[in-house]
Amino acid sequence: MKLTIMYDNDVYKKDIGLKSDWGFSCLIGTADEAILFDTGARGNILLSNMEKLGIDPRMISKIVISHEHWDHSGGLQALVPLVGDVELYRLGKKSPSENMQLVSAEEPQEITEGMYTTGRLKGPVDEQSLVLKGENGWYVLAGCSHPDVEKIIDAAKQYGNIVGLVGGLHGFNNFSILEDLDFICPCHCTQHKKMIKELFPRTYIKGGVGKIIEI
Ligand SMILES: [Zn+2]
Ligand SMILES: [Zn+2]
Repeated sequence: MKLTIMYDNDVYKKDIGLKSDWGFSCLIGTADEAILFDTGARGNILLSNMEKLGIDPRMISKIVISHEHWDHSGGLQALVPLVGDVELYRLGKKSPSENMQLVSAEEPQEITEGMYTTGRLKGPVDEQSLVLKGENGWYVLAGCSHPDVEKIIDAAKQYGNIVGLVGGLHGFNNFSILEDLDFICPCHCTQHKKMIKELFPRTYIKGGVGKIIEI
């Protein structure tokens, strides 16, 4: 499985005109599908970054919106005319268009082979996270982690041993629960990136737009 970060507060791959902005989006390529996790805040930035990364929106088969904050769902509208018929997994009750078929993400379920959603996790803002099967174990992909990282990892464990964590971690500071992970890539809204880097120098991975992660 291949993850490409397309929208983030930082740029990873410099010099090709990628833009940073407050928000998050990541494309997940599997053997058969391209699945978009979150859409960033602004459609024009999302589309510009996609183009520079050589990603054609028409190859997207499913879209997952982690939670109903503008910096994760804001780019959705701009994709309407560019994608074909896609399934839209979101906690919100609305699809912006007929070609985006709403699928309820309330319950944990398989999205495609080796990819599951935690379903709705309660928090200050409710959220769903993805659980992805990598070569060496399972990875969690989170938007903002509003329900709390520990709660998300606990929910993800129903699918297998969690070895990696990618995404926005917000104010998370219960660092000891990261000790067992082999791969920690804090992105987007993570407030304690520096601390995580210092505490876990061997497993910390720098994120940003253009970062490609093979799991
Ligand atoms: Zn966010
Ligand atoms: Zn949020």
